[in-house]
Amino acid sequence: METPNVNITFLGGLGEVGRNCTCIEIDGKLLLIDFGVMFPDATMPGVDVILPDTQWLAERGADIVGLLITHGHEDHVGGVVHLLREFEVPLYGSALTMGLARRKVTEARLEDRTSFQILNDGERRRIGPFDVEVLPITHSIPQSLCVVLHTDHGVMVHTGDFKLDSHPIDGRITDLKRLEELQEDPGVRVLMADSTNADKPGWSASESTMRETFERRFPEWTGGRLVVSCFASHLHRVQQICDVAIKEGRTIFPLGRSMVNNIRIAQELGVLDLPHRCVDSIEHLHMYEPGDVCVICTGSQGEPNAALSLIARSEHPDLSLGAGDVVMLSSHPIPGNEISVYRVIDQLTRLGCEVVHDGQEHVHTSGHAQRDELRHLYDIVRPEWYVPIEGEYRMLQRNADVAVEAGHQPDRSVVVLDGTQLTLDEKGLRVTGHVPAPYRFVDGLLDDLGPDMLEARRRLSEGGFVHVTVVVSNKTGLVGHPEISTQGWIDTDKSVVVLAELEIEVAQAVRTSISEGKRLEDLDRVVRRITGRFVGNRTRRRPPISASVITVD
Ligand SMILES: [Zn+2]
Repeated sequence: METPNVNITFLGGLGEVGRNCTCIEIDGKLLLIDFGVMFPDATMPGVDVILPDTQWLAERGADIVGLLITHGHEDHVGGVVHLLREFEVPLYGSALTMGLARRKVTEARLEDRTSFQILNDGERRRIGPFDVEVLPITHSIPQSLCVVLHTDHGVMVHTGDFKLDSHPIDGRITDLKRLEELQEDPGVRVLMADSTNADKPGWSASESTMRETFERRFPEWTGGRLVVSCFASHLHRVQQICDVAIKEGRTIFPLGRSMVNNIRIAQELGVLDLPHRCVDSIEHLHMYEPGDVCVICTGSQGEPNAALSLIARSEHPDLSLGAGDVVMLSSHPIPGNEISVYRVIDQLTRLGCEVVHDGQEHVHTSGHAQRDELRHLYDIVRPEWYVPIEGEYRMLQRNADVAVEAGHQPDRSVVVLDGTQLTLDEKGLRVTGHVPAPYRFVDGLLDDLGPDMLEARRRLSEGGFVHVTVVVSNKTGLVGHPEISTQGWIDTDKSVVVLAELEIEVAQAVRTSISEGKRLEDLDRVVRRITGRFVGNRTRRRPPISASVITVD
């Protein structure tokens, strides 16, 4: 019997940072690796998140044997609820990743559509026809996994997100020894590696180097409140901040929904080690002296509804800051978030706080491998084929260059984008197809926001909208004046003359059309065309325009 080919289909994460999803196919069965979200930019009004598209999976729901989640970041696990609404799929991942996924699934009441399968470091397990081994790998959230797939056509390695941290907080280092063994026997055919920091030279600083900053700065701040903001999922950062703050005699107050939840889940799983007596709830904050508190909160990316933004706008019910208080942003703005982050810093500074951030101090280190780390991994794995994943196109390309610099054959570095299908067989790895992989926009309860609707929103946000109502009698033609209503186009009180001119133009066009014998059904189009032209000429705007033509006897 012929050995079935191995197909790899990229549904997200190749060409953008976020919505990561890789689908592996063997013998007609599908294993998904990650199903994450991406966050919208300013050109996507009203969009909450962007998901991998599932059109291609729609007819193959019964073939999906599992979703393996490499780690608990939103761009890898964030779409799980949306996936489960469409398909019943068991979830696989480390204990922490499964804990975080379980909270999402339980909140959405979808537990009966899945199961949570915990994979331990180094474990090898069959999932349908897939022979899967998972290895510990370091990143900016604990318990991240590197996926090794043993197939009839050889070994494939998928790094997930990673950095090579030789001194991680939990001592759980990347299993480079096992990867080296695999390279020696039986050899690695395909390596898919994180491209996020492929542009950055050197080696990322170890997470453990953060402690030195906290130990040096925290004792300088006495008497005032200390507020530290970081990603709620960055539990090793949270651990170090709490350790040093507790040593300085402060009590920890988690603030922000995801911070409170993640700390609780991590404590339950033993990922976070915090003495219960050193943690209190934010409602009790007023009972403490300012110098005795350390608030650890969300909002380090300037998200407008997160705790730090509320504090900065003096809108938080339990915490108001002022002179003598210190805020540390233990983070780096994700490209695109700079304006929001600096707005928050500005507001906090106006309140009189001292603000310490990444621009001034070593308060953050990245969770993604830089060039020397990628090179080191490459040298250990020495794959036959190298496929950069997770990044915008230039990052993928730069990642491919790392392998070539290490002596890899250029035609065996495969730089492809979302929607590409690759096939691995005895001859090698090659592109064999393309599937649809457009952005799938989600707006709250509206699960699917098509590109047309998004375009309409964009136009609404730029020029408002205009509606024209015309009443026409079958016997006497136009009745009264056309009525113009608008939201956000012009100020109707101040622009009476412009509106009157538009009324006259529309009225004339309607009368002409009727006298030319145009059918009433066509009037709607005439009204919209005349209005659009007028609005464009007078205000250089192109708002959506709608019309109602009402007929009376
Ligand atoms: Zn990550």
